[in-house]
Amino acid sequence: MNKALILQTFMRARYFHGFKNRKKLESYQQKQLAKQLSYMTKKSPYFRQYEGRPLEDFPYMDKKIMMDNFDNMNTAGIHKEDALQLAINSEKSRDFSDKLHGYSVGLSSGTSGHRGVFVLSDNEIATWVGGMMAKMLPKGKVFGTKVAFFLRADNNLYESSNSKALQFEFFDILKPMNENIEKLQQFQPTILVAPPSVLLLLADAVNGKKLSIDPTRIISVAEVLTESDEKYFKKVFKQKIIYQVYQCTEGFLAYTCEHGSLHLNEDVVYVEKEYLDNKRFMPIITDFVRKTQPIIRYRLNDILVEEKKPCKCGTSMLRLKKIEGRMDDIFELEGMNGDVVSVFPDFISRVVLYVPNIKNYRVVQESPQKVVFYLDNISAKNKKLIKKEFSALAKKMNFRMPDVSFEKYQPDFSRKMKRVERIKK
Ligand SMILES: [Zn+2]
Repeated sequence: MNKALILQTFMRARYFHGFKNRKKLESYQQKQLAKQLSYMTKKSPYFRQYEGRPLEDFPYMDKKIMMDNFDNMNTAGIHKEDALQLAINSEKSRDFSDKLHGYSVGLSSGTSGHRGVFVLSDNEIATWVGGMMAKMLPKGKVFGTKVAFFLRADNNLYESSNSKALQFEFFDILKPMNENIEKLQQFQPTILVAPPSVLLLLADAVNGKKLSIDPTRIISVAEVLTESDEKYFKKVFKQKIIYQVYQCTEGFLAYTCEHGSLHLNEDVVYVEKEYLDNKRFMPIITDFVRKTQPIIRYRLNDILVEEKKPCKCGTSMLRLKKIEGRMDDIFELEGMNGDVVSVFPDFISRVVLYVPNIKNYRVVQESPQKVVFYLDNISAKNKKLIKKEFSALAKKMNFRMPDVSFEKYQPDFSRKMKRVERIKK
């Protein structure tokens, strides 16, 4: 592990790349972009034909295109089948120390149905760790930091960044939660990093006096953090801000600043926006740091909500109001006049949020006429209230009220939790 590179990235991200000035940021991006495109057209057979062309001429990509063209696209001559085999074996044995020609390999826990595999060089990992730490560690207090990471699958990323100043402990989500809680109690993290579905269980354990920890920072990762969960975590863990890292296999994309706003990491990615309405957009990203697996004009399929007011932290990197969910999970309901009405996940969440005493829920659209509410508290009163809220929404948005049914909510840690989901036929 290249500790010097971690430190170098850390220092640069922390002290030199505040980018208070939007013009400076944009000119930095253009330089990085030009370098990256020139590198990729030389090293990636897939992009060779675009040599010398501007970004607008490059094709869009998504996970399917990336996986279908894996062998041709990566710059390390790695074959998809070899990478997949190694990643699957690691996942089965829960041992993530093996490498392929010196590269770390991981499976992406995507929800869109296409299984993804990703490869990273040691330098990319070092840069990622440095950049992440620069943005996520509390200012001025790095020494003695103990980070507890709850993740579904590892890929030897985190263990390798252990030192006296900074300890990382990895918690495997698939292990029994009682064991994890015991281990966490012993470890006493100063920073707790976990998906909201796990934070919920830990918060319940704190409430039930089964866990007593005093972290100075909570970082929510991997799943969408809803406003109601955020409120609950603030209360239970006694935090002013619940930090978020918006990060996927495609990169480290956004982070919460010290003032509690989400910012896109425009110092490492260039973002094109495909607007869905006047503030919601789908990001198309070009990463100018990663060298092994090109991320060029990659459509992310996520719904981001822009915040136009500048943030007090002073950075000129784009501020987000929130990350709302996946495009695939926009409900498609039958309009009163026969067309399809698209309903954003946020509107669906709100139907449940207005009903008190529900902490855990999922809402799944199974067909144009069928919506199932999974609730931790299915009382007759809650059912009635939800139906009432949902029909108010139907009236407002002019869609035909679908069949609504209710079932008991059960957590499932083998997959990413989505509060709002549309099942594709
Ligand atoms: Zn800010």
